[in-house]
Amino acid sequence: MKRFHVTTFGCQMNEHDSERMKGMLESLGYAEADAREEADLILFNTCSIREKADERFVSHLYEARALKRRDPERVIGVGGCWAQSVKDQVFRDYPFVDVAFGPGQVHKLAEFLTSDSLTAQGFFEFEGFTGHLPGKRARDVHAWVQISAGCNMKCSYCIVPSTRGREVSRPFEELVAEVRQLASEGVREVTLLGQNVNSYGTRLRPQPRKFSELLHAVDAIDGIERVRYTSPHPAHMTEDVIRAHAELPSVCQHIHLPLQAGSSRVLKRMRRTYGRDRFLDRVALIREHVPDCAITTDIIVGFPGETEADFVETLEVVEEVGFDGAFTFIYSPRRDTEAAEFVDEFVPHEVQVERMERLVEAVQRRARERAQRFVGRTLDVLVEGPSRYDPTRLRGRTTHNKVVNFDGLGAAGEIVPVEILSATSQSLSGTESLLSRVA
Ligand code: SAM
Ligand code: SF4
Repeated sequence: MKRFHVTTFGCQMNEHDSERMKGMLESLGYAEADAREEADLILFNTCSIREKADERFVSHLYEARALKRRDPERVIGVGGCWAQSVKDQVFRDYPFVDVAFGPGQVHKLAEFLTSDSLTAQGFFEFEGFTGHLPGKRARDVHAWVQISAGCNMKCSYCIVPSTRGREVSRPFEELVAEVRQLASEGVREVTLLGQNVNSYGTRLRPQPRKFSELLHAVDAIDGIERVRYTSPHPAHMTEDVIRAHAELPSVCQHIHLPLQAGSSRVLKRMRRTYGRDRFLDRVALIREHVPDCAITTDIIVGFPGETEADFVETLEVVEEVGFDGAFTFIYSPRRDTEAAEFVDEFVPHEVQVERMERLVEAVQRRARERAQRFVGRTLDVLVEGPSRYDPTRLRGRTTHNKVVNFDGLGAAGEIVPVEILSATSQSLSGTESLLSRVA
């Protein structure tokens, strides 16, 4: 039996595509290898959001080349955004690559593997969603559901519109049927995925749909206990979406709302289409409707032209909002993006690093403070399995997307009450309340 190994870089969308790749390969009779050295088919699902991601990936690719030198029958495949952004140049610069495909092209891998010719091939035209391909889920109780592809925004730092193309939404009924099917297979939590997930449906024909309609439809499906989504855009964070978190029992008390910068001047140059006030107004609306909602974010430091005063505004928003967590990034110029041309205004790397350190300190301190509100409460935790740090304990997640390590008896997939005893910026610790088991 032939064996494959997939290495995934980047975002949840890539994790989802990799699950599809694995499911598809298993349906073709391949088995998953634990290590790259043991695989006949070495695959990479790549990211190109930052330069660091590119560099990290290329060193892995050279490792695969060394393995192929030992066994020339090995097939090397490269999928995802990096492949899309360099297209056929892959074969020129890395002639040992056999197949390359863009993010919407997972199904093309099957075509390549089952064709007679194994000469190098590239597939880069968007043709469809991977939804209908068999999947292989990393966690039995959780599934990703891609609801749209591409992005119509033009954020000046971002490579996504050029790698993933214009936004296309999947048909509403198809999504509802897919989630129903997942529920019948035992899935209890779904994460709806899109680059701009909350602009879903506006261009669907004949009947345009709203993202909140989809939340209502998915909430109504028996067996689905938790619904998450990522990433929404603050400009499209309408009241009906926020209310869905308050009104629908399965829609989680967590919103990931990417800020990017706290200065309206920088936001404008980023072409984010909202300013600091609009962002804070969205946060206020969330807190009004869903007071306990966790809010997390993405922030970029050192965007071209960012002054010390601009950066201080980002710190101010971090202090004011008190995010429950944040992904923080140092700005990285990307090919074919508008901001990459602001060369004269690039912020020196040491300044970026120094700002990053101050940002991380503020983010973590506020997240730790915010997390103390959970101490002493009993929260519903969806059990994922043994704790990563101590296998005698369990690990799970609250509706706020907080990881909880706890002592208890719950089985993976169960939702159990856990009394929270302590909290850090990253996770909670507690004990399962066993009273419910006695009753
Ligand atoms: N579509 C989502 C959004 O708008 O929030 C996610 C896009 S991206 C996959 C995730 C994050 O990477 C962005 O929110 C941004 O903070 C960061 N990012 C994107 N391009 C970047 C760049 N050129 N340099 C540094 N960080 C970047
Ligand atoms: Fe990139 Fe902006 Fe689209 Fe997000 S919304 S994928 S940051 S262009």
